[in-house]
Amino acid sequence: MTQIDVAPKWIVGGTVVTLGDDCRVIPNGAVRVDGDAIGWVGARSDAGNVSGEVIDAGGGLIMPGFINAHMHFYSTFACGIAIKDAPPTNFLEILQRLWWRLDKALTLDDVRSSALVPLVRSLEAGVTTVIDHHASPNAVRGSLDVIADAARAVGVRTCLCYEVSNRDGSDIAADGVAENAAFIEACRTRDDMVASLFGLHASMTLDDALLARCVDAGRRLDAGFHIHVSESHFDPDDSQAKYAKRVVARLADAGVLGAKSICAHCIHVDDSELALLADTRTNVVHNPQSNLNNAVGRADVPKMLDMGICVGLGTDGMSATLLDDVRLVNLLHKHGTNDPRVGFVEAGKLLLENNARIASRYFGKPVGALAPGHKADVIVVDYDPPTPLAADNILGHVLFGLPSARVTDALVDGKQRLENGKVLGVNKREVTDEARRRAAEVWKRF
Ligand SMILES: [Zn+2]
Repeated sequence: MTQIDVAPKWIVGGTVVTLGDDCRVIPNGAVRVDGDAIGWVGARSDAGNVSGEVIDAGGGLIMPGFINAHMHFYSTFACGIAIKDAPPTNFLEILQRLWWRLDKALTLDDVRSSALVPLVRSLEAGVTTVIDHHASPNAVRGSLDVIADAARAVGVRTCLCYEVSNRDGSDIAADGVAENAAFIEACRTRDDMVASLFGLHASMTLDDALLARCVDAGRRLDAGFHIHVSESHFDPDDSQAKYAKRVVARLADAGVLGAKSICAHCIHVDDSELALLADTRTNVVHNPQSNLNNAVGRADVPKMLDMGICVGLGTDGMSATLLDDVRLVNLLHKHGTNDPRVGFVEAGKLLLENNARIASRYFGKPVGALAPGHKADVIVVDYDPPTPLAADNILGHVLFGLPSARVTDALVDGKQRLENGKVLGVNKREVTDEARRRAAEVWKRF
């Protein structure tokens, strides 16, 4: 008989929302945490002797932490940055004049600082898992370890990769391949707080030779890939012109697709590409706030879901909280289709179901539900709903109630990381002050 040698923790005194396959809402519920996992979930009256460390939810909601399925921590220093000359007129100019200049100005210390800020904000917003896509072309080697260390310090679960491309020459591309490979290899013997994917920027910045080299390295390590796909029309235009193929077909032929891979955006894709994504069980991540900001169009999320594609939700560096984006899934699709029936159910599916399915592929135990055996990533939200709350109307509360509620406590991997709204273990004042100092220096080099 195995014995649990760690004293259990209990979270009581609130309404438990389990999410997961069999979503339950349990008024006056209780959750027992055994080590890094959920041990028991039920009514407080059925919990028996509650002893050990007890967290009182103060009448709030006790629910799984949120998951961000596509993020760029390094975008932190873009807030307030000035792009000289006239504003960019299209997405390629946004890349060339903002992102590909900002990421080149980052040192490893900047990478750490720009990651710590959104990591702290993520936890404050109840986001306990983040899948990040990183670039710092003049500080490639070691960058993923720097982010992993920052994530550990804050206590956010992360899945990291470096976005390889041809845009900065062959030496930096080689560094990117090596950084992904070394980090994937190192993650094999680490705990479940950090996982890895092989990062690729986009089809339009990867020639055939580099793409083949990345796929070879990633496949040998049994890794999935994380890549931007047809975010704007430039990606399919480039692929058609150079390779006479649609982007998804090119990636399928190269060996990028599969159940562990993530294709972010997929806005300018046709039905044959959607069929390829469905057939290969490749994950797609929708980022509505970013797509609106870049004026690149609207992904047809309802069609993807109808075709059986697992579509998750990310913020693409626009924010650290998911609740702005989940509202936008609903609004963007209603507006884009002129149909008020579209968007609501899809929003819930992306955030509350599919992000858990996607992230559960990368860590030792499943995440995103309060169920025995799942990772103990639990948040407490100070939410006193003005209307009845039940398993069949959770989504209405997530879209229209929770965004204005405060997350008070968070446990990640069974450890308390947020207490009464305060991130434990890091000094937020110092994190913010250092970021502001570093941002000013980065802007001078920009
Ligand atoms: Zn992105």
